[in-house]
Amino acid sequence: MNSYSALSLAWNALTGHGGWKAAWRAPEPKRRYDVVIIGGGGHGLATAYYLAKSHGITNVAVLEKGWIGGGNTGRNTAIVRSNYLLTPNSHFYEHSLKLWEDLTADLNFNVMFSQRGMVNIAHSNAEMTALHRRGNAMRFNGVDSDLLTPKELGQLMPGLDLSPEARFPVMGGLIQKRGGTARHDAVAWGYARAADSRGVDIIQNCEVTALRRDGDRITGVETSRGVIEASKVAICVAGHSSQLAAMAGLRLPMESHVLQAMVTEPVKPMLDVVAVSGALHVYINQSDKGEIVIGGDIDGSNSFAQRGDPHVLDHVVESAVSLFPALRRLRMMRSWGGIVDMSMDGSPIITSLPVRGLFLNGGWCYGGFKGTPAAGTAMAHLLATGEPHRIARQFTLNRFDTGDLLDERGSGSSPWMH
Ligand code: FAD
Repeated sequence: MNSYSALSLAWNALTGHGGWKAAWRAPEPKRRYDVVIIGGGGHGLATAYYLAKSHGITNVAVLEKGWIGGGNTGRNTAIVRSNYLLTPNSHFYEHSLKLWEDLTADLNFNVMFSQRGMVNIAHSNAEMTALHRRGNAMRFNGVDSDLLTPKELGQLMPGLDLSPEARFPVMGGLIQKRGGTARHDAVAWGYARAADSRGVDIIQNCEVTALRRDGDRITGVETSRGVIEASKVAICVAGHSSQLAAMAGLRLPMESHVLQAMVTEPVKPMLDVVAVSGALHVYINQSDKGEIVIGGDIDGSNSFAQRGDPHVLDHVVESAVSLFPALRRLRMMRSWGGIVDMSMDGSPIITSLPVRGLFLNGGWCYGGFKGTPAAGTAMAHLLATGEPHRIARQFTLNRFDTGDLLDERGSGSSPWMH
């Protein structure tokens, strides 16, 4: 903290905190922008930031129907990693991880990125073989990975049940030491402040209700705050992608499901890595406040509700307790749900759409938070140049026509996909 910041902190503390400047403006929407971005989550805000920073395009509006970061960005379990099997995903998420490593400095906003290590736990020989394969693929792609014996897992996670009588005996694991967590809402705020300072208008409480077209070309959007014209419109709305695409008469290879997460009461430090068990469909880490953050598999049915089914919650808690028996003594404080955009092959979609000037960033399934910086970079490149960014060439919709799918359903806590 420099002396000016220290002085202003002291001054505001003594004068009732009335003198702080808002971190971003609250402008009225203009009649026309060069680019309209629908969705003020991390991806929409990052797209706006990189459009301004890397391409000099600043006549941009981010339209958010609620408050920024109020969607999945503020609801996720904040895990950041690049431990993917398939080369296109591996390169994309590794590019993202490298951006995470400098993000706090780049945005001049502390996103609390903590590279505490990301551990996958195996409970069978078959799972160990899969982890060997994934670890080798990661190293081949220049991504760090190390296999772990049960003893090494026990040293990393003293609370892990390693006994042979455990309900799901532990056979070993794989660690990506550069993986970890970040403070999710700080990511939205950091990108928002940085985009705003470059001239981007962030407009909250502004729901897009229709897309305007002239023939096969997009001309703007209708919103709860009036019509806004633009020749380029980017849909960055995660679980609502199919609803926005339907406004243009398009159907996407995507389903919306609720994904739940929960936190316990805060306790003293007991887990300083992120632990994932694919077989048990559970992932666990400890927040900086001390809460144990637990997530699991998606709810089975399609839904747009931001709350989940209690039986999924039960299953996730059972799994967490069978891995770390001491957790059974903790009280659950909160649980919530977000609507995730499950693509049919488990990989993201960053693409132009059949309507000219209309673009989509979606299909992030369980894992788009970690992709935020790279997704923003790739989406901004696509909007500015009309061409896919080199890190996202295989993420266009074209793959669903050619059958050249990126089937990565199974790299996290779910057999479906993570
Ligand atoms: P969002 O943050 O959802 O932003 C989309 C925004 O669009 C929303 O704010 C919404 O209000 C707005 N919107 C929708 N419709 C309209 C409209 N018509 N007009 C205007 N605005 C509109 N990923 C990881 O990498 N690691 C994890 O550990 C992880 N855990 C997760 C745990 C849970 C419980 C959930 C739900 C998700 C998790 N994810 C995780 C996934 C991750 O959160 C998402 O992929 C990512 O945050 C998507 O960001 P986004 O900006 O695309 O979407």
